[in-house]
Amino acid sequence: MIELKGVSKTYDNGTVALKDINLTIQKGEFVFIVGASGAGKSTFLKLIIREEVPNAGEITVNGFKLSSMKKKNVPYFRRTMGIVFQDFRLIPKMTVFDNVAFAMRVTGATTRQIRKRVPYVLSQVGLTDKAHCLPKELSGGEQQRVGLARALVNNPDLLVADEPTGNIDPQLSFEIIELLNEINRKGTTILMVTHERELANWFDRRTIEIRDGSIVSDSGRSVSNESQ
Ligand code: ADP
Ligand code: ADP
Repeated sequence: MIELKGVSKTYDNGTVALKDINLTIQKGEFVFIVGASGAGKSTFLKLIIREEVPNAGEITVNGFKLSSMKKKNVPYFRRTMGIVFQDFRLIPKMTVFDNVAFAMRVTGATTRQIRKRVPYVLSQVGLTDKAHCLPKELSGGEQQRVGLARALVNNPDLLVADEPTGNIDPQLSFEIIELLNEINRKGTTILMVTHERELANWFDRRTIEIRDGSIVSDSGRSVSNESQ
């Protein structure tokens, strides 16, 4: 589902963010990407969703070869995944229902499909009672669950979450990951970036640690980089 071969990323100012990353993530896996601030986690995610392109190497996600992908095809590629952001990125003037419905509308879904699907997804994340609230009327954890509902509404094969628990308290972080676990059990592949290693440890899932732009361990097994 996700494959990186010899992937390196150096930003225009010369900062080396990732060095020779080799990695395969199978369909149905739940993977935590951990590492300190500045390790290269966000760069890794940006490459996966093709917000950035590598200087070297090959990335394949959901059957799309990202290096040869034309810019005009990026929106089609993005529709194969759901993305959850640390800062939620909800539309302030839209209700919870409309924030989630909007993600369906842009894919050309009909009103009938939206009326059926949005309440179902809101119930999955426990927000049925909040459908008509505005984001500012919700707690941080609730706003993040709206973000999750929006990411799930188009039934993606892959869910990518960038520090989804970064702006909420530990108890709610736990609930968000429980929800992700449930979604994963239904077959969605999940890739979650966090600097909170304890969360990843607690949930006992595949955990890949990035340090100074290299993968240093994969579920506890240290990874040596032959080319270094
Ligand atoms: P993390 O998400 O683990 O905190 P990042 O991927 O954001 O790490 O950053 C990895 C390295 O790349 C850091 O040294 C950071 O300063 C640098 N970096 C990130 N984004 C940019 C950018 N747009 N331009 C230049 N350097 C960047
Ligand atoms: P937290 O403890 O997570 O910060 P809040 O105290 O912000 O949560 O919210 C507690 C509950 O009150 C939540 O269910 C939230 O939806 C509701 N709530 C908070 N602010 C408003 C508001 N301005 N209007 C309506 N409901 C609100």
